[in-house]
Amino acid sequence: MAEGPGWPSVGRSAPRPRRRMVERLAAAGVRDARVLAALAAVDREALVPEALRHQAHYDRALPIGDGQTISAPGVVAAMSEALELRGGESVLEIGTGSGYQAAVLARLAGRVVSVERIPRLADRARSALDALGVTNVVVHLGDGTRGRPGDAPFDAIVVTAGGPAVPAPLLEQLAEGGRLVGPFGARGRQRLVRVRRGRERFEQEILGECRFVDLVGDNGWAA
Ligand code: SAH
Repeated sequence: MAEGPGWPSVGRSAPRPRRRMVERLAAAGVRDARVLAALAAVDREALVPEALRHQAHYDRALPIGDGQTISAPGVVAAMSEALELRGGESVLEIGTGSGYQAAVLARLAGRVVSVERIPRLADRARSALDALGVTNVVVHLGDGTRGRPGDAPFDAIVVTAGGPAVPAPLLEQLAEGGRLVGPFGARGRQRLVRVRRGRERFEQEILGECRFVDLVGDNGWAA
């Protein structure tokens, strides 16, 4: 961790397994020092099921119940980095899941509004975020493919489940200059996409291939 520009002393006070996880992510190409620091600061072990805690720092998605997963740290890092957060932003997350991505975003932005469709996961994520002392994340139960019109506009929107296409309401709720990042394409195989809202139009970039659980809702896959 000592060498290389951009991550001088990131995670120095984190427990060793997490520090090594962050070192591996930096070596794999994550450059944003704030993102690395956020991953070093969030206790991923506290957000995975107890029986899987020994795997918490592998770069792997893990099951969290109800057929859902906590995203791999590398994916959380890549998506967080792609959102280009500088601090103070208002962020919308679709798919709270374990609350891990939300806890990371909470350290990078001003406030995070996160939507989860499965009641048990939403409840569990709320308690876990409370226990971690995260105060700037609000978890709502509902269909995130409709966004949260009452809380819009958002400077950044992250979709953490794979849908057929970018849900139109989310584009409407993106602030000018805002970024939306998420996986879109076929079921079980998507492209990670970043959409930037310019003054006059939306610009789309493909960031890579990925594989997420289904985005289920009005503007996603049918349940
Ligand atoms: N960000 C999560 C990853 C969770 S996996 C984490 O860091 O752990 C994706 C989550 O999206 C699942 O919990 C799934 O229930 C949820 N989801 C799928 N479709 C949704 C929708 N339309 N609205 C809200 N949540 C949705």
